[in-house]
Amino acid sequence: MYMANLNKNSIKLAIQKEGRLTNETLDFLRKSGLEFESYKQKLFVSARNFPLEILYVRDDDIPDYVESGVVDLGILGQNILNEERPKVKKLLNLRFGFCSLVIAVPKESNITNVKDLKNKKIATTYPSSTKYFFKKQNIPVEIVTISGSVEITPFLGIADAIVDMTSTGSTLALNDLRFLEKLYDSEAVLIANQNATASVYQKNLIGKLIIRFKGVLSAKNYKYVLMNAPEDVLPKLKKITPGLKSPTISPLTKEGWVSVGTVIKEEVFWETVEKLKDLGATGIIVLPIEKMIT
Ligand code: ATP
Ligand code: ZN
Repeated sequence: MYMANLNKNSIKLAIQKEGRLTNETLDFLRKSGLEFESYKQKLFVSARNFPLEILYVRDDDIPDYVESGVVDLGILGQNILNEERPKVKKLLNLRFGFCSLVIAVPKESNITNVKDLKNKKIATTYPSSTKYFFKKQNIPVEIVTISGSVEITPFLGIADAIVDMTSTGSTLALNDLRFLEKLYDSEAVLIANQNATASVYQKNLIGKLIIRFKGVLSAKNYKYVLMNAPEDVLPKLKKITPGLKSPTISPLTKEGWVSVGTVIKEEVFWETVEKLKDLGATGIIVLPIEKMIT
C-alpha cells in the first residue's frame, strides 16, 4: 500500500471502507469530536482537529495491518478476531455492529438438533470458528469453506447446513433457512497493535482518543432526567437514582418542592421513572446526553 504521505507523528486508524460497519464507524468517530472527510475514493484522510489518519480498507485486511503495525488502531467486528485470532490488543467494545454467528439449515430439513449434524457438510466463510465449535461439542462434521453467498449452498447440494453471520434472522427466513444454534455474538471493537503504546507520545494520543470514545459510549448508556419533587422524598429519590454523584437540586417557588437533575442508566430507565412517579415526582423531562466524561 502506498502511504508515503502518512504523517509519522499521528495515530493511524484503519476502518472498513464500504460495508456494514462503515456508517456507524464514521458516526462514532464524529461523535467523538473528530472532524474529517469521508469520501471513499481516498485511501486515507487526516482528521482536522486531532493527529489522526484514517485509512479506509477492506475489513478482512484490518487484522493484518494492525498486527504488523502498518496502522496503530483498527475498528472491526469481534467476529473477525474470533475467526482469525490475530496478535493484537483489544481496547474497547464499541456497542454497534451487533450480529451473531449462527448455524442454519433449510426450513424443510429434518435436522432439528446440532447433534443431527454429525458427519454432515457445513458451508461457511468462518471455518475456524466452525471447526472450534464442533470440536468442543465433539461432533465430527465436514467443513466446506466458501468465500461468499453461503446461504445458497444447501440448495445447491453442497452443504446440509451453513454457519453464517446474521443480525436479525430475517435474512435467514428470506433464504428459506431456519436458525439452529448460535456460536457467538459479535459487535464492533477497537483494536491496537501490541506496540502501539510503546512511545510516550503515542501512548498519550491513544489515551486521549480512548477518553473520547469512552465519553461517547457512556453517553449512549445514560439519560439526563429533570423533575420536580417534594423535598421530603429526596433521600428516597437519591437511593433510586444513584446517578454518578449526587443529583443537582435547586429550590422551586412552590413551597416544599425542589427541581432535581440527575443521570439515569438506560437499561433501568423505565423502572426508575416509574419509581420516581410513585414517589410523587412530576414534570419529568428526559434529555439525551451527548458526551459524558467522568
Ligand atoms: P469487505 O468488503 O470490507 O470485506 P464484508 O462483505 O466482508 O466487507 P460486511 O458484510 O460489510 O463485510 O460486514 C462487516 C462486518 O459487519 C462483519 O464482519 C460483522 O462484524 C458486522 N455485521 C453486522 N451485521 C452483520 C450481518 N447481518 N451480517 C454480516 N456481518 C454483519
Ligand atoms: Zn470482508
